[in-house]
Amino acid sequence: MRLNKAARVILVGAPGVGKGTQSERLLARFPQLCAISSGDLLRNNVKNRTPLGIKVESTMKTGGLVSDSLILRLITNELGQRGWLSGGRSNVMTLESSAFGVAEAYEDADPFIATLDANPHAAATLSAHASEDPTASFLLDGFPRTATQAEKLDSIVPINWVVSIKTPFDVILQRIASRWVHEPSGRVYNTAFHAPKVPGIDDITGERLVQRSDDKEEVYRSRFQKFQETNEPLLEHYAKKGVLWEVEGMSSDEISPKLFREFERRFI
Ligand code: AMP
Repeated sequence: MRLNKAARVILVGAPGVGKGTQSERLLARFPQLCAISSGDLLRNNVKNRTPLGIKVESTMKTGGLVSDSLILRLITNELGQRGWLSGGRSNVMTLESSAFGVAEAYEDADPFIATLDANPHAAATLSAHASEDPTASFLLDGFPRTATQAEKLDSIVPINWVVSIKTPFDVILQRIASRWVHEPSGRVYNTAFHAPKVPGIDDITGERLVQRSDDKEEVYRSRFQKFQETNEPLLEHYAKKGVLWEVEGMSSDEISPKLFREFERRFI
């Protein structure tokens, strides 16, 4: 299905609520969309042992939030590499988001972000793709997570739809506890509804499956608590801008049709 206006969409929801699943389904249905997941970008950095990955690894393992400056830099680089930003910030285009130099990874004050802090309007020149051209459509999953990140993003790329996905805590916890992954490929299984043919073994390679360390119950509870603390101000931020839409459901299958209907109403 083709879009007739640009969709610059954020999916917001507790960890494990199914943002990744909804994002995959939206991409399959609307091929003009591209998706960026901050968690996946970070996990790639950890897997590839980049300086950024090494720096954030322990924070991620314990369910903490990576600093705003690092995450903003990662996302800005990613948007730039995809050609969605222009306007004179040459290092956006040249830095490898998956291969930060040591200096960048250890730098807490990003000069670009400092400029945005000082003058948010200065970034307007960077939003070259903030047009209604449907080819400039994307979906962000996992970013922004805080109102501060949202404010920074506003000054780079204006978001035009924020989807808040809601599922009860216990339902998500149950789902997370049954999630197993094949690390080398990223294949995800769930013993409740998408079990591997042999328990604990990847269907394709026969290799062992593992639980993501941040999926362990204690870690999950901590991630959920952090999510709640930062989520309310984030939603308020977007509600004030008039772009917030909420959807509820016990499963991804219940949520997807509602999401598709509203997406089509807005962008098709
Ligand atoms: P996710 O897969 O989205 O749950 O992200 C996994 C982990 O990456 C989180 O628990 C955080 O440690 C980190 N992370 C991902 N996105 C962000 C963000 N926008 N701000 C800070 N930390 C993040």
